Amino acid sequence: MAQKLLEIENLTAAFRSQKDWVKATDNVSFSLDTGQTLCIVGESGSGKSVTSLSIMRLIDYAGGVIMEGSIRFKGEELASKEQQEMIGIRGNKIAMIFQDPMSALNPVFTVGDQIAESVQLHQNKSREEAWKAAVEMLRLVGIPSPEIRAGQYPHELSGGMCQRVVIAIALACSPELLIADEPTTALDVTVQAQILDLLLRLKEEMGMSILLITHDMGVAAEMADRIAVMYAGAIVEEGLASELFRSPSHPYTAGLLRSIPGLEGDRGEELYTIQGTIPPISQLPSGCRFHPRCPYVMDRCRNQDPGFFRLGDDHKAACWLYDESVSAGSAQTGNKVTVKFGVRDKQNAVKRGERI
Ligand code: SF4
Repeated sequence: MAQKLLEIENLTAAFRSQKDWVKATDNVSFSLDTGQTLCIVGESGSGKSVTSLSIMRLIDYAGGVIMEGSIRFKGEELASKEQQEMIGIRGNKIAMIFQDPMSALNPVFTVGDQIAESVQLHQNKSREEAWKAAVEMLRLVGIPSPEIRAGQYPHELSGGMCQRVVIAIALACSPELLIADEPTTALDVTVQAQILDLLLRLKEEMGMSILLITHDMGVAAEMADRIAVMYAGAIVEEGLASELFRSPSHPYTAGLLRSIPGLEGDRGEELYTIQGTIPPISQLPSGCRFHPRCPYVMDRCRNQDPGFFRLGDDHKAACWLYDESVSAGSAQTGNKVTVKFGVRDKQNAVKRGERI
């Protein structure tokens, strides 16, 4: 049976505004098994990065706090740890790579120094041993002539090479969990594909788990074993990637999938867009937080939070469409209701869900 590596339960993180605390994530729960890749997807402002910063406890340095909830890593509670204790975990057992490699690297140190620093800090190695390890890491992430490149500064390398260096720093201490926050967004499309392939290869070789944050459903399709879809600070759908792509069950997930260019295969057809924009976290709507943008909105959606409905052994969605008592204003047959969403805009029969 798969081992749980990371378990997040009811995580609520907040930032101080001029008047009050504002929740950036609200009751977020998910788990990640050893060796698995979980993608958190959603638009900018949906709380993906705040979730990853909370796991690393870097949210404390960004002016936020963890108000409630639990973050267990191999059964060890991280939410209540002192920052001093996190030093032994951050960069060692859990590592993170960020979106923009140029701002993640220090311009006044060579890339070899920056990898070696991480090795020296966590593995108690001599300067010479750490440098050798840095060169090996550059070789592992596919940088040619690593002995020479190790002595160069970030401005002497391309964007793709810098992201490989950032990955080398993150993996230098063989972490069990790698958190990658939009790792390819700042890169050219061809380099993006190389970096994703590299992450997949290293995951297999090093036996680590990946928590990948992305707004790109194409990236999620390539990488994920499981997917959690976030909207306005909350998870609205979660399940196995294969199941979620085959049968997107929350109208927001369906909208994200329909918004991928070229997926329909119909040349000349106007690209689908989800109407409206994500609300500011200080002005969330009542009821279902997606209701102002949802094409299937019903009266109860405007003032009652749907909570989760179980749609399968490993699939859940937060939507009133799955409630027994809802007709959704669409054709209803037996215990199924017919609504019009899905990647191919076909009539999907939506199963009733069990309330979680
Ligand atoms: S609960 Fe209502 S508004 Fe929210 S996603 Fe479902 S149908 Fe749309």
